[in-house]
Amino acid sequence: MAVIDEKLDDVYAEVLHRNPGEGEFHQAVREVIDSLGPSIAKHPEFTRRKIIQRICEPERQIIFRVPWEDDRGEVHINRGFRVEFNSALGPYKGGLRFHPSVNLGIVKFLGFEQIFKNALTGLPIGGAKGGSDFDPKGRSDQEIMRFCQSFMTELYRHLGEYTDVPAGDIGVGTREIGLMFGQYKRITNRWESGVLTGKGLEWGGSLVRTEATGYGTVFFVQEMLESHGMSLEGRTAVVSGAGNVAIYAMEKLIEEGATVVACSDSAGVVFDQAGIDLDLVKQIKEVERGRISDYVDRRSGATYKDGACIWEIDCEIALPCATQNELTGRDAEKLIANGVVAVAEGANMPTTPEGVRAFQEAGVLFGPGKAANAGGVATSALEMQQNASRDSWTFEYTEDRLRQIMKSIHTACDETAKEYGQEGNLVIGANIAGFERVARAMVALGLV
Ligand code: GLU
Repeated sequence: MAVIDEKLDDVYAEVLHRNPGEGEFHQAVREVIDSLGPSIAKHPEFTRRKIIQRICEPERQIIFRVPWEDDRGEVHINRGFRVEFNSALGPYKGGLRFHPSVNLGIVKFLGFEQIFKNALTGLPIGGAKGGSDFDPKGRSDQEIMRFCQSFMTELYRHLGEYTDVPAGDIGVGTREIGLMFGQYKRITNRWESGVLTGKGLEWGGSLVRTEATGYGTVFFVQEMLESHGMSLEGRTAVVSGAGNVAIYAMEKLIEEGATVVACSDSAGVVFDQAGIDLDLVKQIKEVERGRISDYVDRRSGATYKDGACIWEIDCEIALPCATQNELTGRDAEKLIANGVVAVAEGANMPTTPEGVRAFQEAGVLFGPGKAANAGGVATSALEMQQNASRDSWTFEYTEDRLRQIMKSIHTACDETAKEYGQEGNLVIGANIAGFERVARAMVALGLV
C-alpha cells in the first residue's frame, strides 16, 4: 500500500472506524486520499474547513424496504438504497444499480466516486448512487414492473429535478427508468422530465445517452493515445462485459479502426479472432436478454470458455467494462507481459489497487474510471439541459458535446498531474482535479 500523507492518516482511520465492514467504500476512499497530500499542502483552507472529512460523510443516506409479489404470488422483500453524497456542485446525480451484490458499502463506494467523476465533467451535478439487492435476472416484464413501482413508491419523496436525479447502472436501463418515471409521475402528478435521466427518446430522453459511457471511454482512450503520438487504428482490443457500457465501447472501438477480439459476461468469455460481431452481441444481450455463451452457437470460428479470465487474451487496448475489482494485480501482469499499451476503466473501480500500480510501474497508459467513464453521467447532464429548455438535440451535436467533454476531462487530469509534479499519472490528476472543484465550492458554501 502507498504511504498516506500524515495528516490524512487520521482521516482515513476515522473513515475505517465509522464505516465498519464496507470494504469497497474503504478502497475508494483510500484511493482518493492517497492522491490528495499535495493538494491539501497547497490549500490550508481545505484542512481548516475539514473538507476531506466532510466529503467522506454522505449528506444523507436512505435505506428502505421494497416489498413486491412475483408472478406466482410469492412475496419478496428487497432492500432499497439512495446515498446522497454531496450536493456542493449541483443536485445529487448518479445511477441506480439492481444486482444481488448491492449493499450499503457498495452504494457508498459508487456514490463517493460519483462526486469526483461528476465534478470532472465540469457540469452542475452533485454525487449520489442508489439501487437494490434485487436480481432482475430471469424476471418477467411484469415482475420488473412491480418491483420498479414498489421501489419508486418510497424513493419518489427524496427526488426532484433540483434535488436528486437518478439514472441507470448495472441492471437498470431504459425499461426500468420508464417504469420508475411512470410511477413517479403517477404519485406526484407532475410530468417532471428532469427527475430521471436515461429516459426513452419518445418521452424526454437524449440521443447518445445509451451509447455515452462506452463511447466516452473510447474518446478518452483516443486522448491518451494521441497525447503520446499514437492512435486506435489497427489495434487489437479486449473489452470485459457485454452490458450497455461494453457494447458501446466495442461499437466505437470498431468504428475507429480497432479489432475487438473478446468480450464476456459473469459466466464466461467469448473469443473471436475475426473480430466480435457486434450486431449479434446486441441481438443476444439487448433484444433476447440472453447469455454471451449463445454467441458461439451462431458464429463459426468463435470460442466460448466458461469461467475463463479475459485478461489472458493478447491485446494492446484493454477496457474493463463489467464491474468492480474485476482486474487484479495478476491480471495486470498478464496484460503487461502480452504488450498492452492502454487501459481505461469503463466500469466503476474495476481495477484493484495492485492492478493500477502494476500498470503505472510498467508505463502503461491508464485512464481511471472517474475520468474515463464520466461520459455517461455527462450526457445525463446534457439530457437535463435539454429537458430544462424543452428541446432535443441531434445525435451529431450531442456526440460532439460528449467528445469535447471527454477531451476537457483528459486535459484537466493531465494538467493537474503536471502541476503537482506527477506527469502522466492520470489517477492523481483525476482525483485532485475532481476534488479541488468540489472543495472550492464547499468552502464557498460555508459549513453545511
Ligand atoms: N451509472 C452511471 C455512472 O456510473 C451513470 C450515472 C448517471 O447518468 O447519472 O456514472
